[in-house]
Amino acid sequence: MSRSGLHIGIVGAGPSGCYVADAIGRKLPGVRIDIFDRLPTPFGLVRGGVAPDHQGTKNIARQFERTLGKDGVRFLGNISIGRDISYEELKAAYDVLVITIGALEDRRLGIPGENLDAVYGSGQFVAWYNGIPDGRDLDPRLDGKTVAIIGNGNVALDIARLLGKTPDELAASDLCAHARAAFESARIEDIWLIGRRGPLEASFTTAELAEFGDLARAATLVDPVQLPQTLPDGLSEEQEKVAAKNLDVLRAYAARGEQNDRPLRIHFMFHAAPVAILGAGRAREVVLERTRVENGRAVPRGETFTIQADTVISAIGYRSTPFPGLPFDAARGIVANAQGRVEPGVYTSGWCKRGPQGVVPANRADSLAVAELILADLAGHDGVGKPGAALIDALLAGRGARAVDFAGWQRINAAEVAAGQGRPREKLARLEDLLAAAAG
Ligand code: NAP
Repeated sequence: MSRSGLHIGIVGAGPSGCYVADAIGRKLPGVRIDIFDRLPTPFGLVRGGVAPDHQGTKNIARQFERTLGKDGVRFLGNISIGRDISYEELKAAYDVLVITIGALEDRRLGIPGENLDAVYGSGQFVAWYNGIPDGRDLDPRLDGKTVAIIGNGNVALDIARLLGKTPDELAASDLCAHARAAFESARIEDIWLIGRRGPLEASFTTAELAEFGDLARAATLVDPVQLPQTLPDGLSEEQEKVAAKNLDVLRAYAARGEQNDRPLRIHFMFHAAPVAILGAGRAREVVLERTRVENGRAVPRGETFTIQADTVISAIGYRSTPFPGLPFDAARGIVANAQGRVEPGVYTSGWCKRGPQGVVPANRADSLAVAELILADLAGHDGVGKPGAALIDALLAGRGARAVDFAGWQRINAAEVAAGQGRPREKLARLEDLLAAAAG
C-alpha cells in the first residue's frame, strides 16, 4: 500500500501547522503538503505573538523554516479561506485537511465602557506592536499617565514589561519602528496589572514575573497585604511549586518598597474584578470590585473602587475565528472537534482545538498527537489521491489570487533582516510592503 499520492492541506502556518506538517512528512514520505496562511508570512504567533524582546523563543522559527522548505511541502501565504478559496473546495482538494488557525479574536470583557476610545484588546495591541498588517493602523492612545491592563496571564505581563522598558532595553528586540516611536513619546507613569483572583491563581509564569525585577526605569510595586502568608491546602504538587515560586518573587518586590526615584511604576493588583470603564468618549477610569476566591472562583465582596486609566488593555484570552462552513463551538470559541477530529478527513490542532492555552512546546505535543491520529485513520487508506494542488492552483488562478510561496517569504525575510541595522529585523507591517518584498 502506498500513500505517496496523498494530498494534505493545512490551514495556518503557525507552530501547530508546522509541527503537523513535519510529523506527517516524516512518517509518510512522498505525501504532498500545502500549508496556507492568510498572511504573506509564516510562523503565526512566533512572529506575531511572542514578545519582541523574547528573541530566544523565536529561534524555533528556524526549524519551521526547514519544514516549509522541504520537498513536497508548499507554503501558500496571503490566501484567506472564505475569501480566496472555500472550506468545501479544500475538502474536495485534500485527502486530509488540518485546521490550525489559532485564536485571533479578543475575548470581550462584557462590561460597560468596553467600547470607549483608548480601550484595546491584547490581540489588537500585540498585533500592532508586532507588525501584523491588521493591527498596523491601530495607533493606540498612549497619551496619558496611566494604563490599566486587565488579566494576570503572560500576555498581560508582556505588555506591561514592554511599556516599562527603556529604548535601550528594547534595542535588541524586533519591536516595530511605529511602536518604538509611540513608546518613546509616551509619558506613562503608572501601569496597573489587574487580577480578578489572587497571586496564587495568577496564570503568569515565574520566569516572566521575575523579569520585572530587572527593569531599568520601572519600579515594580506589590502591596504585601495582598500576599498570603501560607499556601492553601489542596494544591497539586505542581501548583504548589509554581505558586511558591511566584510568591517568592512577589514578596521580593513587596520588600523593595516604593522606589520613589523611578519615573514609572508597575503595580500588581490582585482580587480586583473590572466592573465598568468610565470616561467621556474615551477611557479615563476603571471601576473595580474587590473579590475573594471561593472554590477557585472570584466572588465579589460588594465593595467597589476606582483607579485612573487613560488607556485600558484587556488581556483576558482569545477566541478562534471560523470561516464559513467550518464546524464551530461558538460557546468555547474553538473548532468543534473530538480529540482533534472535526469531520471525516478533517482534523484540528493547537489553540483553535483546545482554546488559547499553552506555549509552543504544548502545541508541539498536541500536533504530534493529531498527526498520530491522522496516521492511524489513514491506515485503511490505499492512497487514492484527491487532486490537491491541481485543483487549488486552478481555482486560485481563476480568481486572480496571488499566493506568496516559500521563496517569496524568504525574500521578505531577507529584506526585513537587511533593514534591521543591528536589530534582529525591521518588520514590514503593511500588506502592500510585504507583497512587494515577496515579489522581489
Ligand atoms: P491566560 O494565561 O489564560 O490569562 C488570562 C487572564 O485573564 C487570567 O488571569 C484570567 O483570570 C483573566 N481573565 C479572564 N477573563 C477575565 C475577566 N472577564 N475579567 C478579568 N480577568 C479575566 O491568557 P494569556 O495571557 O492570553 O496567555 C495565553 C497563553 O499564551 C498562555 O498559555 C500563556 O502562558 C501563553 N503565553 C506565554 C508567554 C511566555 O511564555 N512568555 C507569553 C505570552 C503568552 P482567571 O484566571 O481568573 O480566569
